[in-house]
Amino acid sequence: MTKTHEIVIDKVKESKINSIDFSNLTFGKTFTDHMLECTWRDGEWHTAEIKPYGPIQVEPSCKVFHYGQAIFEGMKAFKDGEGDVFLFRPEDNWIRFNESAKRLAMPEVPKEVFMEGLKKLVNLDKEWVRYGEGLSLYLRPFMIASENGVAAAPGTEYKFMIIMSPAFAYYKGDVRVIIASEFSRAADGGVGYAKAAGNYAASFYPNNLALEEGYQQIIWTDAASHEYLEEAGTMNIFVRIGDKLLTAPNNDRILNGVTRRSIMQMAKDHGITVEERRVSVKELTAAANDGSLKEIFGTGTAAVIVPIKGYKHEDFKFELPTLESSYATLLMGALKDIQYNRAEDQHGWRVKI
Ligand code: PMP
Repeated sequence: MTKTHEIVIDKVKESKINSIDFSNLTFGKTFTDHMLECTWRDGEWHTAEIKPYGPIQVEPSCKVFHYGQAIFEGMKAFKDGEGDVFLFRPEDNWIRFNESAKRLAMPEVPKEVFMEGLKKLVNLDKEWVRYGEGLSLYLRPFMIASENGVAAAPGTEYKFMIIMSPAFAYYKGDVRVIIASEFSRAADGGVGYAKAAGNYAASFYPNNLALEEGYQQIIWTDAASHEYLEEAGTMNIFVRIGDKLLTAPNNDRILNGVTRRSIMQMAKDHGITVEERRVSVKELTAAANDGSLKEIFGTGTAAVIVPIKGYKHEDFKFELPTLESSYATLLMGALKDIQYNRAEDQHGWRVKI
């Protein structure tokens, strides 16, 4: 028998929406009126609560601070010209969330809590989803070990929460990348495929070094040989050589991106040949040298597609050509048209709130 999960709602007395300047948003800094909180204790999920966004109380011994049991998801809600609000492939995020939970020895979140919680929360703060190019509501489900005590063992209490932040385009300006030849983001048998908070913590130091050199991101390579392209800090990576679009196959070091698989499908729909295979730095550099390397771009929920303007690998530097008709522009437009309900949703990716 499946348990039904109740969601109770406690609304804010007064919305703070009128104090928000939607034309001047810094990514991830502004949060909506409400949040969802659901606690796992004594082996089960308790009543989920939607309540005013605000601080949560935890003790200094709270396990997440000591052993990093923390996972999250990133997804978006979009509004169309009629005022209807849609999620994009939300079940994919729920599935990935629970894959992360399993790897971090955390309890899985029932579909009902995740999906109904998201829908109810977005519906309540619908006014925060603005209509307009590049505007969306960024949704951040996450889970932490909330038990007190510093014994190094999985927690017996967890908090699943959802917070939401109105968003505009994520990246600003040109993006150039360093292809990693020293540091690694993830190892074989590790947690790279999970959206574990610690993966991001581990990438900040090498990323700071890249920033100091004038590069905004790192393209991670496989930890064993540093020869094959894997993914970027918060994006999967595509390379266009000639007319083919190439991307690394998923493995246990790479986050299985929802945008990645959507872009692969869209590219196929547009008659573009997509190859999911390993791409070596050697192959990339040979293509750069013979003129067949046309594009490199990252894909992710936050920015959809980020064209890469140039890359550096050890002593080799390359600037990508400026194209009149790039795959990045074509596919970004096609995907946004689906997200904003401007095109037919032939794969059933939109979920109306
Ligand atoms: N790789 C990493 C490491 C990420 O953090 C993200 C962002 N979630 C992605 C790839 C892209 O995944 P998605 O398209 O599901 O946002």
